[in-house]
Amino acid sequence: MTALLLLAAISGTILLQVAIGMGVGFWRLRHRGSAPPPVDGNTPATTGAWAGWRAFRVDSVGPEDQAGTQRTLVLRPVDGLPLPGFAPGQYLTFSIDLPASPSGPLRTIVRCYSLSEQPNGETYRITVKRMPAPAARPALPAGAASTYLHDTVQVGDLLRVKAPAGSFVLDSTSDTAAVFIAGGIGVTPMISMIAWSLAYRPDRPLFLFYGVRNSADHAFKALLEQLAQSHPAFTLTVLYAAPGPDDIEGQDFQHTGFIDVALLKRVLPHGRHQFYVCGPPAMMAALVPALADWGVPKSDIHFESFGPASSGYVRPVAGVAGTPLAIPFDIQFRRSRRTIVWDGKDTNLLDFAERRGILVESGCRTGSCGACETRVVSGDVRYADKPDFDVSAGSCLLCVGLPASNLVLEA
Ligand SMILES: Cc1cc2nc3c(=O)[nH]c(=O)nc-3n(C[C@H](O)[C@H](O)[C@H](O)COP(=O)(O)OP(=O)(O)OC[C@H]3O[C@@H](n4cnc5c(N)ncnc54)[C@H](O)[C@@H]3O)c2cc1C
Repeated sequence: MTALLLLAAISGTILLQVAIGMGVGFWRLRHRGSAPPPVDGNTPATTGAWAGWRAFRVDSVGPEDQAGTQRTLVLRPVDGLPLPGFAPGQYLTFSIDLPASPSGPLRTIVRCYSLSEQPNGETYRITVKRMPAPAARPALPAGAASTYLHDTVQVGDLLRVKAPAGSFVLDSTSDTAAVFIAGGIGVTPMISMIAWSLAYRPDRPLFLFYGVRNSADHAFKALLEQLAQSHPAFTLTVLYAAPGPDDIEGQDFQHTGFIDVALLKRVLPHGRHQFYVCGPPAMMAALVPALADWGVPKSDIHFESFGPASSGYVRPVAGVAGTPLAIPFDIQFRRSRRTIVWDGKDTNLLDFAERRGILVESGCRTGSCGACETRVVSGDVRYADKPDFDVSAGSCLLCVGLPASNLVLEA
């Protein structure tokens, strides 16, 4: 080989290495640059969020499980403007007009649905479980919003949506192992947390314990299995409460039964973990106190309830600014013609009302959507945390409100 050829070969190799290096650098930059800004575990707000309601068109719909009881809807903003990011775990609030009766006038209901994927700047995705009438009272109407989102809403339809909100979000700045415990549709916020974490913090250890009845309502099956196969940091443990005849243990699911602390102890490595729990009331009532009894510090237990709280896991009611709450108080629900004694055992006035069978509208249950705003006829309501929602004068938000005196409420 002549000296000239040798020089050309060396220069070519160097140029190739520089090109590869620049390519890899550019790829890393693009992928790092597209990560949503880090959010900590207490950040409810989203930068670039809009105020009030924004129109979204349904872009696509599809079943998320074999039984078709969970339906995913992808939504695109009608104005075509970019969508703000959100903290993985947050939800959207929907305002839905439905006929009060088949021929009656429309009534507006407000419902919240967790975002079931990581932010992408163009669309939002939610997954809705069809809510049937309670088994013990089959004559009651099925869930209003979920039935509408399953049976009536189709591609091209419009929905009114509030910006992402909620404080049940991944502590995305932490490297501590995150343990997700999901029952049924409670997996939705975790899909978003897991997808985000694997994309932008791929070395952080993640564990998902996901309990469902069997393969019929095993949602996100292919997605979760694919994530577990391609990410060594992610361990997936699926439990079927009642496996079907064709369900194969070790393939479709890992254990039969329910998630409990004994299983967590067997699967989790020794050390500190941050727990995220979301599921039906019975699961929450059993697991949240059990985690605390196991010695997990309260600051490492995060949970969200999609419906009325169950008495087993209500958080202790703190007075405002350290003032102990005086009890008992008489709480009169004027429209329902009921007066009940507040004994300080409930976390808020919404749980207090629901647990005693008083029907009140509700949405987010965290003081941001306004669905449970109720007129205070007399008395004072106070808040342990200031609501995100601007409450009208003379009204209160039941979901975060506590009585500060005897009360008469218009509910
Ligand atoms: C932060 C948050 C996030 C959420 N994320 C999700 C999610 O990702 N996916 C999801 O599917 N859900 C989610 N939810 C729950 C969701 O918001 C709704 O509560 C759920 O879809 C049920 O609403 P619905 O209008 O269908 O039912 P509703 O109409 O509110 O009815 C609820 C139940 O009450 C029964 N009922 C009807 N009438 C009566 C009556 N007169 N007396 C007693 N009972 C009656 C119904 O049959 C039904 O079983 C979330 C909730 C919150 C708070």
